[in-house]
Formats: sequence, C-alpha cells, structure tokens
Amino acid sequence: MVRLRHTYLMSAALAALIFLVGNGAVARAQPTKTGAPAAAFKLNGNSYIEARSFFARFGLKATWVERGKTMRLQSSVARIEIEDNKRDVAMNGLRVLMGEPAVERDGALYISRIDAEKLFQPLLSPSSVASPAAPALRVIVIDAGHGGQDTGTQNKTFKLDEKKFTLDVSMRLRTLLIQQGYKVVMTRTDDRFVELPRRAEIANQAGADLFISIHFNAVAGSPTVRGSETYVMTPQFQRSTSSAKREASDNVLNPGNRYDPWNALLGYHIHNQVIDSLRGEDRGFKRARFAVLRLVNSPGVLVEAGYLSNNDEARRIATPAYRASLAEALAQGVRAYALAITTAKTR
Ligand SMILES: [Zn+2]
Repeated sequence: MVRLRHTYLMSAALAALIFLVGNGAVARAQPTKTGAPAAAFKLNGNSYIEARSFFARFGLKATWVERGKTMRLQSSVARIEIEDNKRDVAMNGLRVLMGEPAVERDGALYISRIDAEKLFQPLLSPSSVASPAAPALRVIVIDAGHGGQDTGTQNKTFKLDEKKFTLDVSMRLRTLLIQQGYKVVMTRTDDRFVELPRRAEIANQAGADLFISIHFNAVAGSPTVRGSETYVMTPQFQRSTSSAKREASDNVLNPGNRYDPWNALLGYHIHNQVIDSLRGEDRGFKRARFAVLRLVNSPGVLVEAGYLSNNDEARRIATPAYRASLAEALAQGVRAYALAITTAKTR
C-alpha cells in the first residue's frame, strides 16, 4: 500500500519566506536553561506541545525528512509525516487535517495540544483514552443526505441528483450492517424532505451509538475537482478545517463534542476504507460543525463520497457498482472502528 501522495515541492526561498511570515509576529518559545527546546508554548491562543516527545509516548520514533521542516514519526504500525506550517498530515499514507498547523521552533516541531489529545492519541492508542469511556456499538443510524424538494448537489449534464444516490447507498449499507448484527435506524427510507435538526433528533431518540451521514459533493465552476472527504465534529476550542482563524463560536461545547476522541477514531477508519476502496482522490479527513454532527449525542461521521460536478466521477457514482463498493467500504470502516473500541474497552 503505497499512498504517499503528499510531497510538497517548495523552493528553499519560498520555504524561508513562509518561515519568516509564520514566525515574525508571534512570541517565540522560551528556551529552557539547558538550551533544549521548550516542552510547550502558546501561539494565537492555542497551546502547542513538542511533537517528538509526545509521539515517543506511543512508541513512535522521530526522524527529520528535511531538518527543521518535515518530520517522520514511525513505529511498526504507524507512520506519520508532519510538516512545519501545514495542517496536512500523512498518516499511513492517508490525508489527515490537523486543526492547527505544525510549528517549528528552535529546531523542534510542535503540534497543538488539541490535535495531540483528540486526534493522534485516540488513533495511536485507543486504550489510553481515559475519558469519555469507549462508547457502546449496537444501534447505528444511517442518514441519507437531502431528499424531497432538497435535491442536494446535481450534475446538470447527466441530470443526476445527489438525493437519489445518498438513499441508494444508505439502503445498501443498512443491509450490510444488519448482516453484521447491528440494529439500524434510518433518517429516511424514501424520497422525502427531512430537516437537519430532525435527523439528529431521530438518531438521539433511537439511542444511536453511531451516526453515519452520506453525501456527494459539488463545486460550481471547477469541473476538475474530484475525490472523497470525510468529516467529523470539530473539537471544542478548535477551528473547523474550512475556517481561516479561530472564532468565538469555536468555544461552544456542542452535544457532538461528547465523544471527540472517538469521533477521530471513527472518521479515520471510515475515510481509510473509502479511499482504499474507491481509489479516488484523497481530499482528506476533516472537521466541520455540520448541523447533524453538532447535534447528535453519539460519535458521528459525514462522508462526501465523490463530486457530482466532475463528469467522470458523476458517471461512476451513477453506477450501482460504485455505490455497492461505497456501501461495502463504509461497512468495513464500521468494522474497523468497532474493533478499535472493543480493544479499548478490554484493556
Ligand atoms: Zn449533500
């Protein structure tokens, strides 16, 4: 499995410029008396911790791919590459977006404490997550995006509506998850409109242990954009992937934050399976406060499994074979997540 797609080609001059811009206007880390890099510091209201020592706790060894810029952290089971001034991380070849970019200081690389504790720790060592306890997994709610008068995204060339494909994949996934022994509840089983808060309400009333929302993407005026991305709820005190900076609303504790570490585990496994199965472009495992993710009382994930605005991808999405593969990938992702939380419970 070679999936190292994220080589950033940057001239030395540009790298130096970004370094200066990135470091000029902020307080520098206080060097310790021994001259060793600081263990932690604050930057733009975010707490940062030193990456090498954090990952060493989970048995990962650090080496520089490029000194002062790109660090590789590796164990027998995980390989992570983190780059100064970037939120993009390659984790076992998968594209994962941190909440805040890595920062280089005095020859060491730092990551935000929230990314350390709510992204990497649950992925590297689910059994080390002290709170909240690993959730149960019996009831799964599947949310077919859009419906009724809300068509979702469209491909005008081929006259395709997102709402039809989200329902088709959801019904296929339902069959697979019932076969795996889960109780499955749907937010819709036909072509009807369901308000976003109502979808979360259905999940919460059903006592959902897991919420999976299925969508297909589109972007106006960019017909070449393609690929899949996976979202889970943004942790409290962190900005969403699409936000340029922190906002006051990032500090709100939402129902969907109850299982922050488990959201990370769920999102990673679902995204990993979707990218592996569909072989599409990896647009990343990301964070957003979408209404359904914000309001559910369980771990939740939202998958954007391809672009209807890309004609090639739209053609594929319109085939039952693609949708069957997607449903199978989502079921595999649930299996991987279930295995991880079971391991965490039996520590
Ligand atoms: Zn959608």
